[in-house]
Amino acid sequence: GPAPESDKPAREWLAAHDGAFGQFIGGRWTAVAQDALFDVQEPATGKPLARVTQGSAADVDAAVKAARAALPAWRDLPGHARARHLYALARAIQKHARLFAVVESLDNGKPIRETRDLDIPLVARHFYHHAGWAQLLESEFPGYEGAGVVGQIIPWNFPLLMLAWKVAPALAAGCTIVIKPAEFTPLTALLFAEIAQEAGLPAGVLNVVTGDGSTGAAIVDHPDVDKIAFTGSTEVGRVIRRATAGSGKKLSLELGGKSPFIVFEDADLDSVVEGVVDAIWFNQGQVCCAGSRLLVQEGIHDALIAKLKRRMETLRLGRPLDKAVDMGAIVAPVQLERIRTLVEAGRDEGASMWQPSWACPTEGCFYPPTLFTDVAPSSSVAQVEIFGPVLVAMTFRTPSEAVAIANNTPYGLAASVWTENINLALDIAPKIKSGVVWINATNLFDASAGFGGYRESGFGREGGKEGMYEYLKKAKTPSTLDARRS
Ligand code: NAD
Repeated sequence: GPAPESDKPAREWLAAHDGAFGQFIGGRWTAVAQDALFDVQEPATGKPLARVTQGSAADVDAAVKAARAALPAWRDLPGHARARHLYALARAIQKHARLFAVVESLDNGKPIRETRDLDIPLVARHFYHHAGWAQLLESEFPGYEGAGVVGQIIPWNFPLLMLAWKVAPALAAGCTIVIKPAEFTPLTALLFAEIAQEAGLPAGVLNVVTGDGSTGAAIVDHPDVDKIAFTGSTEVGRVIRRATAGSGKKLSLELGGKSPFIVFEDADLDSVVEGVVDAIWFNQGQVCCAGSRLLVQEGIHDALIAKLKRRMETLRLGRPLDKAVDMGAIVAPVQLERIRTLVEAGRDEGASMWQPSWACPTEGCFYPPTLFTDVAPSSSVAQVEIFGPVLVAMTFRTPSEAVAIANNTPYGLAASVWTENINLALDIAPKIKSGVVWINATNLFDASAGFGGYRESGFGREGGKEGMYEYLKKAKTPSTLDARRS
């Protein structure tokens, strides 16, 4: 195959920082405090990649103060001037696209094909799109103003893309930011801070604080933060909802899912198989809207499963910088262990487990594509979000039974419906309780379409016009009555 992507520019960037990062606050790196550093590992090798700072409440406070100080000037810029900054960020991402892609693949373990062709282009697209909203703020959102200082907490599965989903609309709306990347994957956020600075973003508008859940909690609890945006587990989402209740803070939560992938017997099975590959093996299944429950109409079950197993045999798993691999590494040993435990539980409950005959690399965090059949809809593998490359297949007889099984989880993030019968697709789609329903497609994202959940998948939308409201609040303009009184 082709030579692997070079990691040299990424290693040079890390070396320029001596492999250790302070916090990015008020447009500057804080001094590296050796006793506050923790290791960031490369999932594909288990080797240390860099050391970053475990953020303290004092770090968070300094970042919030920097964001507060930068707010008036940023908020009061005319929309077209903020748009220029967003365009500059989009271009800077494109200019450094290869470096971002390699750092992301090293840090997260996902294949370079994905970071190069999906993650990073979508990041740039998100900034271009939101440059438009910055210009349209006055005309499209009359009576609204930016929410203020926002605290943003993101997960490790799409580190830079989740940053873009949060940072771009906040900047467009005139907010200033304190963002915390996930502890497993902080590196592209740090690189972004540096590149945003180079691209002329004013100091203090974007502050990056690294650390674990306790650092996240310090952001959530900080009294001078006006809005919290969180993407991560339903469990932590619940904690944050409780912590912000009654605080007056705006809140949006993007949480977990167990999304159905529904195949009717008239569907084109070759397309279905490729759809399944994208639904559950893209990003090793570490996708909040992964199509992790395959619901198959009874008559085609055996034929589809046979085809799917043949396809699974041909999936290529390996080092993320190998340009030919379809699947890379799982983000961290603790996640790998979680997947193993949930798969074990599925076997104990009596479902049949199948994996391809090839072996995974023995070094690093790898888990093979896995298929469960004979799964009861109420069993744990059918109900619990595995967040790994594990698909559970179930059968249904009628469209109404498909809808009932599809809706039978606490979640409601995404769904995918496969049929050649457009009337059936249009009948089914609105009956499924989820934020998005794809027809003969899966995992399609666009900056202009609001993405988000129902029920335990959270609330609030990211992307498009809907997403802008998350970073706006009703402006306190003096009413005509007040004007007459004075
Ligand atoms: P997580 O909830 O453990 O962590 C997410 C982020 O929250 C991390 O940055 C973490 O440090 C921080 N955090 C942890 N505890 C916190 C606390 N008490 N207060 C504040 N912040 C805290 O989730 P994860 O393991 O990083 O990500 C996997 C989960 O995220 C999955 O359940 C997945 O479905 C979900 N997810 C959802 C979406 C979506 O858009 N809905 C996208 C990606 C991931």
